[in-house]
Amino acid sequence: MRYFRPVITTATGHQPSPYRSPNQSIIKLNSNENPYPPSPNVLKRLNTFDGEWLRRYPDPYSQEFCHAAAAALGIPSDWIIVGNGCDDLLNILMRACIDETRTVVYPTPTYSLYRTLAQICGAQIIEITYDTQFSLPLEKIVQADGALTLIASPNSPSGHQIPMAELRQLATTIQGLLVIDEAYVDFAEESALSLTQTHGNVLVLRTLSKGYSLAGLRFGFGIAQPALLADLFKVKDSYGVDAIANCAAAAAIADQTYKNQCVNQIKLDRQHLTLALRKLGFQVPPSHGNFVLATHPEAPRLHDALREHDIWVRHYPQAHLTNKLRITVGTPEQNQRLLQVLTNLL
Ligand SMILES: *Cc1c(COP(=O)(O)O)cnc(C)c1O
Repeated sequence: MRYFRPVITTATGHQPSPYRSPNQSIIKLNSNENPYPPSPNVLKRLNTFDGEWLRRYPDPYSQEFCHAAAAALGIPSDWIIVGNGCDDLLNILMRACIDETRTVVYPTPTYSLYRTLAQICGAQIIEITYDTQFSLPLEKIVQADGALTLIASPNSPSGHQIPMAELRQLATTIQGLLVIDEAYVDFAEESALSLTQTHGNVLVLRTLSKGYSLAGLRFGFGIAQPALLADLFKVKDSYGVDAIANCAAAAAIADQTYKNQCVNQIKLDRQHLTLALRKLGFQVPPSHGNFVLATHPEAPRLHDALREHDIWVRHYPQAHLTNKLRITVGTPEQNQRLLQVLTNLL
C-alpha cells in the first residue's frame, strides 16, 4: 500500500541537528545560532503581552512587525511578506513556482533545504556546482532557465558573498524569479535589497534567526514589489506566524543598535578565529557569515574528537566537503575553548 506520492518515498528529507536543551553544557557551534541573547526589548515586549491576543487568530499580515521592519530598513511596509522562519517562505516560494514541469536552479554547495523542498514539489532540479573559488556560475544559471533561481548570499557553508554587480546582471538576464537568500546579511558588508526596487523579479529573504538571536522564535520575511507578493500571499498560510512571534519580532527588528553591537562583536571574533585556525594549519577563507569554513585533511577525525569534548561543529558527508568543518563563531570564551581543544588534538 502506497500512501504517499512517489516523490515523498524517494525524497531524502531534511536532517535537523540533534536537539539539546540549552541547559546542557555543550558548546554548540554547528547551527550558526547567535551566541548572545536577543534584544532585552523582546522580553520586555513579551511581558506586556495581553492574553486576549492568544484567544484570537493572529494578524495574517503581521503588521506590527511590518511597520517596525519598514522603519528599521527604510522600505515600504507593503513590500514585506512574513513567514514562520525563512524556511516557511522557501516552502511558500517552491509551492508557488514549482511543479513537475518547472525547474528550480541553484549553485551548490548551499543550504540543503533547497533540495529537500524542491524534491517534495517533484520539481526538475538543476544544481550547478561552484568552482573552488566560489565564483558565481552566471552563464550556466542563465542557461538553466529556472522558473525559480535561488542564490544564498552570503552562502552557507562557504561564507562567500556574491558581488552586487553579478546579482544585478543575473536579475536582468534571467526570465524567472530570483530569490536572494540573505539569512547571513547582518554579518556581511553589503545587501542586495536595492535590487528589489529596480527588478520586479527579485525577492530578498531575511531571517531573525541569525543576526537577531531568535532562531527559536521562527520568524523570517521576504522583501519584493507588492505585485510579486500578491500571488505569494495566496500560497501562504493566513495564520502561519503567531501573535507572540509578531510582536517579539517587531521589538527585535526595532532595536538595530543592540543587533549591531552583537554583530560587531561576532565579526571581530570571526577575524580572531580565522587567524587562530590558520595558525593551527587550517585553510580558512574570509567569511561574510557568523561562521567559518575551515579546511583540514583530518576534518572528520577532528569533528568526532571535538564532539567527545562536548564541542559540536558541522561536518558534511558530501565528497568535496569531507575535509572541511563549518564552525559557528561563538562567544570569545567558546572560541577559546574550541581552539584549546583543537591545539591538543593536533
Ligand atoms: C538559517 C538559514 C535559513 C533559515 O532561516 P530560518 O528563519 O531559521 O528558517 C535560510 N537560509 C539560509 C542560507 C540559512 O542559513
